[in-house]
Amino acid sequence: MAANIIDGKAFAAKVRGQVAEHVARLKEEHGITPGLAVVLVGEDPASQVYVRSKGKQTVEVGMNSYEHKLDAETSEADLLALIDQLNNDPTVHGILVQLPLPKHLDEDLVINSIAPAKDVDGFHISNVGLLGTGQKSMVPCTPLGCLMMLRDYHGSLSGMDAVVIGRSNIVGKPMAQLLLGDSCTVTIAHSRTKDLPDVVRRADIVVAAVGRPEMVPGDWIKVGATVIDVGINRIERDGKNVLVGDVDFASAAARAGAITPVPGGVGPMTIACLLANTVTACCRANGLAEPEGLTA
Ligand code: NAP
Repeated sequence: MAANIIDGKAFAAKVRGQVAEHVARLKEEHGITPGLAVVLVGEDPASQVYVRSKGKQTVEVGMNSYEHKLDAETSEADLLALIDQLNNDPTVHGILVQLPLPKHLDEDLVINSIAPAKDVDGFHISNVGLLGTGQKSMVPCTPLGCLMMLRDYHGSLSGMDAVVIGRSNIVGKPMAQLLLGDSCTVTIAHSRTKDLPDVVRRADIVVAAVGRPEMVPGDWIKVGATVIDVGINRIERDGKNVLVGDVDFASAAARAGAITPVPGGVGPMTIACLLANTVTACCRANGLAEPEGLTA
């Protein structure tokens, strides 16, 4: 059996199209342009690439992009002052502080200083609590993208057995909350889980968010299961640098019903969901109807 490939690149393009349509309507009917502020502290090369890409895609869907680049020695007080200014700026609907921050800055303190309604990464403690209690929140972008792809492929997820491998605050835990919200029976596995292969073999849905190249082999996958591979691992193979996921794609695709590739699966959905969250935040801030299908 050859699995269906869930094409995250095409799906992300569709989401960006929906966002762009909604942005155009907000401008035309209400004179409002959604704005996303991205704050980068320091010169981490990967973070610089992400921030550039976010800025470019923000502009492409018709929103305003505000980039704030601060030097690596920026004090906590100065960073908090900038966030306070953005919190109070009515033209800014979403604020994202690119992580990781330099070591002298307290990430939790910084994230929790963002106004929850503008926290388009969904990492603020209030949004975590709202998601956990099934209330309207800003939902972390990567798990939101995974949920959108699962809903699109399956329709209803109700009653399905889902296993999330990984319990990070940015992927594993919110992913589990979202699947629970869609009435899956959810297991969260991690590095101390006993007999992980056996746990994974029970799953109708496997979400792998570990950060270990190809650690999930095909024979852990139940025949017909849907596999969402969040992992992005850079490895050297045959003398070349390649990107691989947390799942061994070839052997898993031979058993799964559907699977996301790496690259081209979850990755492109993350920025698309950031744009979706910004337009959602803008609508909420202005008391307007939210676009359908762009949040959990
Ligand atoms: P993380 O914070 O390092 O968390 C990794 C999780 O995997 C932890 O909960 C850890 O368990 C668990 N784990 C480690 N080894 C394991 C093992 N042998 N068996 C079972 N579980 C194990 O990572 P993350 O930030 O969630 O990211 C995970 C992966 O997703 C990375 O490859 C990252 O690059 C990728 N990612 C992709 C996107 C995207 O846009 N596509 C976004 C975010 C992250 P413990 O808690 O017990 O240590």
